[in-house]
Amino acid sequence: MTTKTHGNYIGGEWTEGQDAAPNINPSDTRDVVGLYARASRADAEAAIAAAQAAQPAWAALSPQQRTDALDQAGSEIQARKAELAELLAREEGKALPDAVGEVVRAAQIFKFFAGEALRVGGELLPSTRQGMSVEITREPVGVVSIITPWNFPIAIPAWKIAPALAYGNAVVFKPADLVPGSAWALAEILSRCGLPAGTFNLVMGRGREIGDTLLEDARVSAVTFTGSEATGRKVAQACVSRPGAMAKFQLEMGGKNPMVVLDDADLEVAVSCAINGAFHSTGQRCTASSRLVVTEGIHDRFVAAMVERMRGLAVSDARAPGTVIGPVVDAKQLEQDLDYIRIGREEGGRLVAGGDALPQVDGKPGFYLQPALFTETTNAMRINREEIFGPVATVIRVRDADEALAVANDTAFGLSSGVCTTSLKQATRFKRQLQAGMVMVNAPTAGVDPHVPFGGRKASSHGPREQGRYAAEFYTTVKTAYVQP
Ligand code: NAD
Repeated sequence: MTTKTHGNYIGGEWTEGQDAAPNINPSDTRDVVGLYARASRADAEAAIAAAQAAQPAWAALSPQQRTDALDQAGSEIQARKAELAELLAREEGKALPDAVGEVVRAAQIFKFFAGEALRVGGELLPSTRQGMSVEITREPVGVVSIITPWNFPIAIPAWKIAPALAYGNAVVFKPADLVPGSAWALAEILSRCGLPAGTFNLVMGRGREIGDTLLEDARVSAVTFTGSEATGRKVAQACVSRPGAMAKFQLEMGGKNPMVVLDDADLEVAVSCAINGAFHSTGQRCTASSRLVVTEGIHDRFVAAMVERMRGLAVSDARAPGTVIGPVVDAKQLEQDLDYIRIGREEGGRLVAGGDALPQVDGKPGFYLQPALFTETTNAMRINREEIFGPVATVIRVRDADEALAVANDTAFGLSSGVCTTSLKQATRFKRQLQAGMVMVNAPTAGVDPHVPFGGRKASSHGPREQGRYAAEFYTTVKTAYVQP
């Protein structure tokens, strides 16, 4: 076990926190990935002060300098993708091929926003007043607090940090305390990319200890949060109820994403989409296909094919060759998954595959869970209404496309959704009428490109979209200027 403590990065210096915590490998709980500092409130305040001091000069640099810094970060992430993916898989439990995909996506995001730093556009309009014109420009918002969840340890930080910096803001970044390794590695890369001291700060630690400071400090202008709905509500309350100016905020939260399979679907396509959407990344994706809404003409064939495919899903060490499904992230999440499997049975659901915890695989003690599939469920059951956030999916049998659409939309959430059909008419109808931020036709509900907007509706999201050019809505503030020549 290594004894080096990975420190926080504040004002351009690596600093120790109030204490340090071990980062445990969920594929083998005997393996400690490293020791990582935990920041105190004073550390968080120091990071905010450093960001506030650095931001004006960062915004005043030539955009080319911001482009160069982000481009350099993207190039290094890409060049070190194998090593960074190993670290990600080791600390979070994501199967290595998925971890490589996530690291590459982080690199692409930095490259995309490197380009966007040079394309901060505006508008010039004639005024209704004779001879005047109106200029509409975008300016940075100031200091941005970035709070991220554990399930995408490098991609979600990337899709918040890169646009924040591209548009001239300074950043205080708090990763989830379960996955500080990827966050630290990203911070270390950014510390060598030519950012002036204080422009980017890393404070690792528990939300309940330093979260308040990152939300309530008046020097923070904006808060971008991804995580659970419960924490998201606390973030929103803190941002609006703090004294003085409210903080601008953006929330990306949970999902209960439907994937509809219609009678005319290509069975092979539907099963592949469902296996990938529901179980890859151990089902720990906000966009996971957790509700499979299936019309009765294809229902039995679909369930039989799913059960068959699930037999071949290898659950083992995230970094072992051939692993498709890694472990659940920690003991608490495993307990939550098992609780919902018990609840599903009690509610009358029929567990047709998986659902067993495996205390060890290949002699390694870890948080392993066989992907679980329930049939005979109704949309009223708790397992169809609450986010489980694990490798647990349900099948809801419906009569026809009308009922499928109604069931799919009957949820508090609205992040992603999907439909498998060979009918252009149905594809068009579902694309228009599914109440979600994202709709996938004959594709898994999870997995979006780095250059297009990401986000949802209803209880899944609040505020402007993330990623792509739409990110400018959150990370800039618009100024309207009248000019009388
Ligand atoms: P979480 O809400 O427990 O934690 C998210 C972050 O908030 C962590 O960094 C945590 O330390 C911090 N936090 C906790 N309490 C806080 C407080 N009082 N003040 C400020 N910060 C605080 O979520 P999680 O368990 O890390 O992640 C899983 C959740 O994230 C799931 O609900 C999932 O759907 C959601 N998620 C959503 C998206 C999306 O884009 N919609 C993407 C990924 C994950």
